[in-house]
Amino acid sequence: MVMWRRVKVLAERIIKNAFRESELGKILYIILPFKFYALSFWVPPLIGIIVVSTKARRLSDKALTGLIAHELCHQERYRKMGVLRYYCFVLKYTFSQKARIEEEHEVDRMTVRKRFAAELHELTLITHASKSHKKIISNYLTPDEIVQYAQKEGLWNSNGNETAGSKNQDSFK
Ligand SMILES: [Zn+2]
Repeated sequence: MVMWRRVKVLAERIIKNAFRESELGKILYIILPFKFYALSFWVPPLIGIIVVSTKARRLSDKALTGLIAHELCHQERYRKMGVLRYYCFVLKYTFSQKARIEEEHEVDRMTVRKRFAAELHELTLITHASKSHKKIISNYLTPDEIVQYAQKEGLWNSNGNETAGSKNQDSFK
């Protein structure tokens, strides 16, 4: 399956299971070559854009689901901010490391709360092992922090896997 199609199919499944379409609005998916895995922005008020790197082709469906779920959480947060707060956020995110850490940590926690702990964990094992990600990796939760947070929220069972959103589609509609 071509990458764009793969992203689209996974995104539709994730949205159906864990998001309200009215809270996301229209989202455009773009595949481009760049050095990290994905990024998200909003063109208020009409459209959200998720850019996925061609690098993500090498990810399993499970890890790619973690990546897309994380990006969709950004999108939901952007919409909730509203236009003015969103522009302020973009400025802060661009210039402040502290703001980047706050946003990325909260989005990782939100991804766990939406029941993609196992998928996010799978992705994070890969990104944290990658040398080219050293600089930005401190913005995100570590694999251990994901497990700890998921356990605290009761979203990590003893196998660490079976509560995953993609596997248990009917339990959280
Ligand atoms: Zn992010």
